[in-house]
Amino acid sequence: MDFPKPEIGELNRPYWDALREGHLVVQRCDQGHAWLPARRHCPACLSDQTRWERASGEGRLLSWVVYHQAYHPAFESRLPYNVALVELDEGPRLLTNVADAHDRLRAEARVRLKVEWEGDLALARFRLAESDPPRSESS
Ligand SMILES: [Zn+2]
Repeated sequence: MDFPKPEIGELNRPYWDALREGHLVVQRCDQGHAWLPARRHCPACLSDQTRWERASGEGRLLSWVVYHQAYHPAFESRLPYNVALVELDEGPRLLTNVADAHDRLRAEARVRLKVEWEGDLALARFRLAESDPPRSESS
């Protein structure tokens, strides 16, 4: 069974294209509100003056659940897997997966974008920031 595909159209194509290039973008209005998923109008002030803006890819883990039952056949081989709510530093929240052992997850943990491919689709997943190797190693 194939991984379920999102509907990609004019409105949300910049989001998916950015992930293919390895980063995350959010929409922002002329009043400074930021959001995901893509919409024609700002959900806070209804402005239609919107633009896409590159996000840091950093955020925090708000909550998660671990699925032990697959509700789509494509996910059976992944059990158990988590579905996590991540709040980006820019504000928008994403439903995603955190690619770390479930027993290491904790609320408020810092997470970092980890683009993963499902076939030809690039997805925004995350990993615990503390899982990353140190940026500078002493030798
Ligand atoms: Zn707004």
